[in-house]
Amino acid sequence: MGFCFYGNEQAVQTLTFSAESGRFSHAYLLYGEAGLGKKTLAKRFAQAILCQNRPEYGQDKQVSGPCPCENCSSCRKVFSASHPDLIWMGLHEKGKNSFHAEEARKLRSDAYILPNDGACKVYILCGVDDMTVAAANSLLKVIEEPPASTVIFLLCENRFAVPETVRSRCIQLPLRPVSEQECEQALSMQAPGHAPDEYQRAARISGGNIGKGLQVLTDGSAGEHTVLAAQIAESLLAPDEFSLLSTFSSLDANRQKAYDSISYCILILRDAACKKAGGTVYLTPFVSLADALAERTALTRLFKAVDAMQYALGCLDRNANIGLTLGYLSANIWMILHEK
Ligand SMILES: [Zn+2]
Repeated sequence: MGFCFYGNEQAVQTLTFSAESGRFSHAYLLYGEAGLGKKTLAKRFAQAILCQNRPEYGQDKQVSGPCPCENCSSCRKVFSASHPDLIWMGLHEKGKNSFHAEEARKLRSDAYILPNDGACKVYILCGVDDMTVAAANSLLKVIEEPPASTVIFLLCENRFAVPETVRSRCIQLPLRPVSEQECEQALSMQAPGHAPDEYQRAARISGGNIGKGLQVLTDGSAGEHTVLAAQIAESLLAPDEFSLLSTFSSLDANRQKAYDSISYCILILRDAACKKAGGTVYLTPFVSLADALAERTALTRLFKAVDAMQYALGCLDRNANIGLTLGYLSANIWMILHEK
């Protein structure tokens, strides 16, 4: 067995072992930023345990062939999201994924009904960091007394926004960005036809996040946050702190937006530092912005500004108040760039 999935050995090994041995936990919490493949990994697990050609638990995998086979009708149904025993919830085509109370109630009544085709039922709940107290309470009732033959995957970006009572009943598996090399390899497999340096650039800009790397390849940017990042960098050149504060307020107190745009802004500052040190390799398309920052800012101040931004990312990751974090960052950076 074994899943085709880049990096993330801990999560992959845990799930592979569960799928091979048949010793499942009833609830797994997969967490990490958007684009890291949480849905893909949960789906691979579902495919493996629902595959019609799966070996009996404990049987030699070499004799039995690969699992999931990706050929049987079950594997194909999982792939096309039409398998009756794989139930997706909280998935919204437009806007942020969010697991609603209504879906939690449906899960509570549905989970105790026997599977249709397979030996078990797999539920994949997206956006559980955005669920209400009512949804969390309903979900808790199911995972406190889980029905046999049911595996529930809870997917989220920020695990600290999931109630502790729910989290503590799950096997918690983090997903992280992969190495630049693995990311390049994944991008060339998933989006063939680009030049080698385009894959390299996309892997660097996305910081090893394959989903974001694909976005860079397809639309030339990693999305809205690149524009916001450029606005933050531009504010650093403004004559007063007001510009930076007002750019931060345009993040709408959205944690993910703040996280992504500050992360990307660090790359622009990195480009500026590189230029300042005589380098010519830019990781972002905002070359003139990086050049302007390099021209006006001492190298040590650029490094200190990056440190301040990384500190803010750590705070956002630990669920600190967004307004306070951005306010502190703004004052801190302003002092770094302008202190005598
Ligand atoms: Zn199969």
